[in-house]
Amino acid sequence: MKVYKGKSSHVDSPVLGAVCVSQATLKRSGKVLVSEQGSNLPFGFKGVVAGESAKVAGATPTVRLRSNDLGKLVEGDLVVLSPDGCVSVVWDMASENNGILPTPSCDCRCIMCPQPPQRHHEDTYRIACETVEALSPEQVKHLCVTGGEPTLLGDKFLDLMRNIKKRFNHASIQLLTNGKGFSDFNLAREFAAIGFSNIVTCVSLHSDIEEFNDEIAGVRGSFHKTVQGLYNLARMRQRVEIRHVINRLNAHRIEPFAHFVYRNFPFAYHVAFMGMEITGLARENYNMVWVDPYNYRFELNKAVKVLHRAALDVSVYNVPLCLLERETWPFARQSISDWKNDYLGTCVDCSVKNCCCGIFTTSGDKMSPHIETIRE
Ligand code: SF4
Ligand code: SF4
Repeated sequence: MKVYKGKSSHVDSPVLGAVCVSQATLKRSGKVLVSEQGSNLPFGFKGVVAGESAKVAGATPTVRLRSNDLGKLVEGDLVVLSPDGCVSVVWDMASENNGILPTPSCDCRCIMCPQPPQRHHEDTYRIACETVEALSPEQVKHLCVTGGEPTLLGDKFLDLMRNIKKRFNHASIQLLTNGKGFSDFNLAREFAAIGFSNIVTCVSLHSDIEEFNDEIAGVRGSFHKTVQGLYNLARMRQRVEIRHVINRLNAHRIEPFAHFVYRNFPFAYHVAFMGMEITGLARENYNMVWVDPYNYRFELNKAVKVLHRAALDVSVYNVPLCLLERETWPFARQSISDWKNDYLGTCVDCSVKNCCCGIFTTSGDKMSPHIETIRE
């Protein structure tokens, strides 16, 4: 999510609105005026984003931003103005990778979590619900519900999902979860009863060995709950994707993990092996979690072949092609969200750049030294 930092006034709690760049409009309901000059008459707007020295009359919630950042807000984007002066773009009109975050809280603390769990605040859930209401059905082709761990909200999670189904049943929906909540059979049953026509529940599983899984998840008992959650979802005929983020603690067992998956979860709709994003806890725990994808490329190739031969749909996310075996290339996807995806100088003349995922900008300088131009 793009976030711009400025200074707030009259923002007592987070305010969501659609960016509007014209003061002349009479349709101000639900909108946030974005104007370098500010406004003498902001009546009816939910908030204003203005230039650093602009004047805004009255007590309308306002954030003042640098011109450079202000110019990046586009008509129709959904933004949240926060008391701490942040303007967060919660729906980016230009992006295919928008998501809804109902809670930053989680019942795991994975050692490589890119978004470290935080205490739940009701405002986060309110903004998620308002975002769903503010989007028109035509706007939404893909939507990802993420966290934190959304299922922790129980009935509120179900209410949110019901509203998403009601408004965007035509869209492809992804739910990112650690799966533990679905070990409660009733939750799995009620979730399935919503009746989405096009949803994939993406469940993280870190290892085929309980101890390794729970060490990575940071909470004992996680493995059993996640596995139970997967089975409950399968009993409810839900499409599940199993996500396996490769880090230093599980990189030596990628192929055994693949065998484990096809023997125990043959119902999986899709299996994704994922390179790490070095931000959040992954950055804090860098020495414990970092493993160069180049060093596990043979093992990964074998794992992909195991699942492919077992007729399971399998992909590799977030690993540049130059760090993979060529046999793995057909399974590699351009998986990095557009707002945090980039290429290096080395990539300019690379002949496979068009099909390579590139790198995470959020990982900074933490990357493999083996990234190199492919010429053919
Ligand atoms: S990676 Fe997912 S499951 Fe793990 S702590 Fe972060 S939000 Fe929770
Ligand atoms: S050089 Fe760049 S574009 Fe080419 S494969 Fe490596 S990361 Fe991808």
